[in-house]
Amino acid sequence: MDRSYPPPRPSNRWLAALVTLGLVLPLTACSVNPATGRSQLMLISEAQEIQMGREADPQIVAQFGLYPDQKIQDYVSALGHDLAAESERPDLEWHFKVLDDPLVNAFALPGGYVYITRGIMSHLESESELAGVLGHEIGHVVARHSANQLSKQQLATAGLIVGAVLLDPEDRYLAGLAGVGMQLAFLKFSRDDERQADDLGLRYLDRAGFDPRPMPEVFNTLGRVAAASGGSGMPNWLATHPAPENRVGRLEAQIADLEGPFDGRPVGREPYLREINGLTFGDDPRQGFFKGNVFYHPDLALQIEFPEGWKTQNTRSAVMALSPDEDAMMVFTLADQESLEAAENAFFEADTVVRGERFAPAIRGFSSIGRSFEASGQMKVKGKVAFIEGKNRIFQLLTYGTDARWSRYDDRVVQAIGSFEELTDRRFLGVQSAKLRIVKIDRAMPLEEFQRRYPSSVDLTTLAIINEVEEGATLPAGTLVKRVVGGEIP
Ligand SMILES: [Zn+2]
Repeated sequence: MDRSYPPPRPSNRWLAALVTLGLVLPLTACSVNPATGRSQLMLISEAQEIQMGREADPQIVAQFGLYPDQKIQDYVSALGHDLAAESERPDLEWHFKVLDDPLVNAFALPGGYVYITRGIMSHLESESELAGVLGHEIGHVVARHSANQLSKQQLATAGLIVGAVLLDPEDRYLAGLAGVGMQLAFLKFSRDDERQADDLGLRYLDRAGFDPRPMPEVFNTLGRVAAASGGSGMPNWLATHPAPENRVGRLEAQIADLEGPFDGRPVGREPYLREINGLTFGDDPRQGFFKGNVFYHPDLALQIEFPEGWKTQNTRSAVMALSPDEDAMMVFTLADQESLEAAENAFFEADTVVRGERFAPAIRGFSSIGRSFEASGQMKVKGKVAFIEGKNRIFQLLTYGTDARWSRYDDRVVQAIGSFEELTDRRFLGVQSAKLRIVKIDRAMPLEEFQRRYPSSVDLTTLAIINEVEEGATLPAGTLVKRVVGGEIP
């Protein structure tokens, strides 16, 4: 948690009552898909498309953060622009950004905004593969897939609130995402859209002069990542880019149909790996981590203990804990306001949230105020909210539960609120993120031996996936191999 925006959103469906998402897009006419030349029902004009992207971009950047390395940003941006110049919409104002996010994902907003996570970058092996991912996303933008999705949605709902319609009530994570921009980014494409984006991506990769043969490997890797994560957690690439049947075989057949030869063309393995040497890998504990039910934030030097047995989650914008019965929740965020009173007033702005009694949070070393509240909507909820001032920031600790069960939780959340304190343990303050390191091996060796000689802080399965080899593979002499160092939590 290190961003104050977007504001906290209750992330449970029974609390959807507290959520109001608002964006009603104006309606327009029909247009021609630039990639296919076919006419399609399009209720959104190019100008609106660009406007949507421009408005949503700050939300994406606030939610994930930009990877703080201008050299990598420039590198990705330059490659992206080369590819976009080969597309059917070369004159769009294209933007390519590397997000500081460990999830393996890439996505695009309408109007020319393409995002790639450091998580996916650490799994790629060459410039050809990077171009494959960027080209695929450019393909979604060129073919106006998300704009088209929105058009369909609008048609179906005749101008209802888009955000509420897109919200999958079963998906707690998506429900927790604030703002239309986030939902725009996580629109689920159809398999037809995916096929088309694959085709277009390959086309741009080929036109830009890359050896296209590594591209299918990207999709293999993404499949392995998804399989290794067990399909749990936050949305990754496959959650929003459903794999068309036989994607890899299809791409390979298309590559065979392209005019070769490819042998003289760059794959850019060495330059790519040198570029990502030192890239942050996995969750960054500097931005907060859990040990048991205690949350530590080294960069802010804070800690807080959530109730025993609650399920916890740390995201960029909030730290959340959910009771085992899923009938109560705590959400820890930064407030936008500059004083405790202003933050409290902002919280109670909504008509549906009613002020209750004051309470004094027992927080040592920080000034704080607290108040009980009730909120009504689809369901009545009760809760306590505390605002804490320190570190030149205002923090908000929101707790709530169903009306009927709240009394069971009241004491426990008050105790949890009171556990908020300065982090002074040097072991936790000094925690560092894991980094990718590139090693050149002078002789052939099995991956297992590589792991012994150059130990990584990830297991052999992860090491195999990020190097795009099988666990039993032998690495040829002279190759560059990825390892992961550091990041251990004491
Ligand atoms: Zn896609």
